[in-house]
Amino acid sequence: MAGWIRGHVLTPRPHGGIHFERDSLLGWDDDGRLIAQQGTGGDGPLLIPGLIDAHVHLPQYRVRGRFSEALLPWLRNHIWPEEERFAEFEYRQGVTSEFRAGLIANGTTSAMVYGSPEADSTHAVLRDLAPLTIKGGDVLMDRNSPDGLLRDRAASLVDAAAHVQEYGERYALTPRFAPTCTEELMAGCGELLAAGQVRMQTHLAENLDEVAWVAELHPDDRSYLAVYDRLGLLGPRSVFGHCIHLDDADLACMAETGSWIAHCPTSNIALGSGRMPIERVMRAGVNWALATDVGAGPDLSMLDVMRAFCEVHAEHADAGPGLALAGATWLGAQAIGESRARGALVPGKQADIVALEIPGGLGRGEHGLDALARILTTFEGRYEEAVLEVVAGGARLKR
Ligand SMILES: [Zn+2]
Repeated sequence: MAGWIRGHVLTPRPHGGIHFERDSLLGWDDDGRLIAQQGTGGDGPLLIPGLIDAHVHLPQYRVRGRFSEALLPWLRNHIWPEEERFAEFEYRQGVTSEFRAGLIANGTTSAMVYGSPEADSTHAVLRDLAPLTIKGGDVLMDRNSPDGLLRDRAASLVDAAAHVQEYGERYALTPRFAPTCTEELMAGCGELLAAGQVRMQTHLAENLDEVAWVAELHPDDRSYLAVYDRLGLLGPRSVFGHCIHLDDADLACMAETGSWIAHCPTSNIALGSGRMPIERVMRAGVNWALATDVGAGPDLSMLDVMRAFCEVHAEHADAGPGLALAGATWLGAQAIGESRARGALVPGKQADIVALEIPGGLGRGEHGLDALARILTTFEGRYEEAVLEVVAGGARLKR
């Protein structure tokens, strides 16, 4: 249904830079597509593109924020038991509807989502989160996992091929990470990835114990990344969570193949994983976008991720609110394969819009980026309150 919203428009431009227009009227047509902006002279909230989370775990939603340990013990003690529970139909339904409500409350209109190690979790990810724009799929793991989560390799590749048929490019092959996947399973994913337009997501070099484990499992490979590269998992439709501990040769390989990093600063703080060196990533020309990584990330707020991004990189890179906004919108749209339709508030793209309360209103002569910076510091810890309205594809989901 056609509609409009009044406010101050702040958006990345698809060809670079940030566009800001005060006192604007942003309209969309019956197909939910943005039409030209008009000035109105009226005041209002800050309007930014719908937020995009490039890496988030649906079945971990109820155990988010339980991060008293490092990555590997946290997985064993909190995450794997919860992902086993997700196999139960009613439990899954309950978590999925809470997760969907959480995304909307926080202004996230698109995401790349991990299911659980259970083939049917793909339907929770790709059907039950509508009308949000979701890519993702069930988690594949066939070694070094508790019995309840281990899957038969051949059967999981057959399931994956069936999901590719059913969901096409919305489906993402999701081998959890190299330690829990045999070479045969990862190579099978590599073949499916090469054959079609599907996507792939996994974890890479989040924590030093994990990196050492991969070196032990794959002594002949030069690095953790080299394992994925050899098995055909790199490329522009592949998103790798974290990528904190990569050397220059790894970064060059990521850049050359057009692979994506899902950068998760709040999760990295929570698990004490370290700081992802954004300055080296950008210098090497590697693609990246921002993500919450719930449940290691404490909540679904991409505004909180943007705040953390600005804070952790302040002394290392020119990482201000403009770059954070791009990481949570336009770059995210590219990472999940939605940049034709989403990621910026420009005519022709879908009306995915978040209206944010500006504390005290927009100041005289104040730029939208300064207003965004004030929002990020004022609402810390309760960002849902800052999200006044959420529009996805022209449908008003929160008002
Ligand atoms: Zn993750």
